[in-house]
Amino acid sequence: MPEMETDIVVIGAGAAGFAAALTAADRGAEVLLLEKTAEPGGSSRICGGLLAFAGTDIQHRNGIGDSNDLLYRDLMVVGQGASDPAIVRAYVDNQLDTYHWLVARGVPFGPKPDASSGQTVPRCHVVDPDALIQTLAVHAKAHRNITIATNAEAKRLIRTDNRVSAVWVFQDGEMFDVAVRRGAIVTAGGFTRNPGLVGTFAPAVARAWVTGGEGNTGDGLLMAWQLGAGVGDVAYIQGTFGKHPTDHSNRHSLLSVYKGAIAVNESAQRYVDESLSYKLLGTACLVQSGAHTWQIFDRPIYEAHEEGVSIFDVRHRHQAGSLIEAATLEELAGKTGLDPAALRATVARYNGHVANGSDPDFGRKHLVHNHGALVPIATGPFYAHASTAALYGTYCGLTVTPRMQVLDVFREPILGLWAAGEVTAGLHGAAYMTGSAFGKALIFGRVAGRAAVGAV
Ligand SMILES: Cc1cc2nc3c(=O)[nH]c(=O)nc-3n(C[C@H](O)[C@H](O)[C@H](O)COP(=O)(O)OP(=O)(O)OC[C@H]3O[C@@H](n4cnc5c(N)ncnc54)[C@H](O)[C@@H]3O)c2cc1C
Repeated sequence: MPEMETDIVVIGAGAAGFAAALTAADRGAEVLLLEKTAEPGGSSRICGGLLAFAGTDIQHRNGIGDSNDLLYRDLMVVGQGASDPAIVRAYVDNQLDTYHWLVARGVPFGPKPDASSGQTVPRCHVVDPDALIQTLAVHAKAHRNITIATNAEAKRLIRTDNRVSAVWVFQDGEMFDVAVRRGAIVTAGGFTRNPGLVGTFAPAVARAWVTGGEGNTGDGLLMAWQLGAGVGDVAYIQGTFGKHPTDHSNRHSLLSVYKGAIAVNESAQRYVDESLSYKLLGTACLVQSGAHTWQIFDRPIYEAHEEGVSIFDVRHRHQAGSLIEAATLEELAGKTGLDPAALRATVARYNGHVANGSDPDFGRKHLVHNHGALVPIATGPFYAHASTAALYGTYCGLTVTPRMQVLDVFREPILGLWAAGEVTAGLHGAAYMTGSAFGKALIFGRVAGRAAVGAV
């Protein structure tokens, strides 16, 4: 096998991979960044572009008070006791610095943060994800310490004297042995594109529509498992609610529920507290008949959606024909196949809860998480968006320390091996705060890059 040598091999050129490579290279390390597919970017490039940061100048300018403490509390609440407090703390402690790092590299952010699942205050910072990846790629290509290899697939991690010493790489029909002086950082993303792994760990999600970077087949997980790595959060793989069942593009789910819509099943009955994390809403949706439900709302709720925010871009979906509009609820029922009397009764009952300030059926108190007062569905025209659950990410993976060193099944460090991004466990726990997956890729990518060169 031909031989190469470098300080660090970073496996996977998505957000985590670029963040890790740039951070390590800036500290003097020689880095080989591998990307299995022809085009870097993975899920990061096609994602909704929502990043959970707290205490930014964008929030200040919009009069939003946020802090590390509030972010920490929210993440712990969303994780329902299943997240690792030390990993949550690592996210919180490194998030603002990562936001500034992105700004300093020329990543443009939208003017206003949005509130979404798991957030007490609006903290979804909006970027064009493709532009973010292209920006980081430009910096990486220009960096004298970074070599990017596309169509280059890491196949195995090799250990010598109890330390990761090399990576086997397949490129152009040949296998290369790349020796590493410091080690490897696994940033190979999740495994939405591996039906075998999804079926093994989350058979309930098999009904969900699946997307994600085309190279996201769990390679990083498997290579680290071979070395005895531990895994976490696999029980919490869940689909995201709000995907239109006939939209096979990578367009994100529509979350009209977070603007005040209700979710009803094919019997026109509500079935969940619509303010919950959209992963929990996805799970609730998948057990409804046909995994097929509807988001129902009216004109004022339609108007409350923001343009330019992927999960609220109702106008584009309207133009694309995926929204059903009707002057009355009866007409809406006729167009959706729902029972008119049942839909009318469900909406009337819900409006009664809104007026009384209490939802005895499902305990909904807010639009989303602890944010926003409930609004009635009363002013036509009325709208329906067919909604199922989609698996965008696997939100689980390798056990790591707060410095992203991979831990084995006995929670002992695997020397010379770090991981970051969707391939890691510990942050999300049982559910998911919007923006924290893309966020964790960038934040933990930088932490891993620093740790791999021995910096704090
Ligand atoms: C449609 C969609 C919308 C989403 N929206 C949001 C959102 O708005 N906010 C949010 O927080 N999260 C969102 N997510 C989730 C989020 O995008 C991902 O969790 C995150 O971007 C993962 O980043 P990553 O760098 O870990 O992995 P990726 O960006 O997926 O990169 C991994 C890379 O590794 C490569 N790779 C895999 N195996 C190998 C190998 N053996 N050798 C070399 N390379 C390899 C892959 O090809 C890929 O390019 C969304 C996901 C999707 C699919």
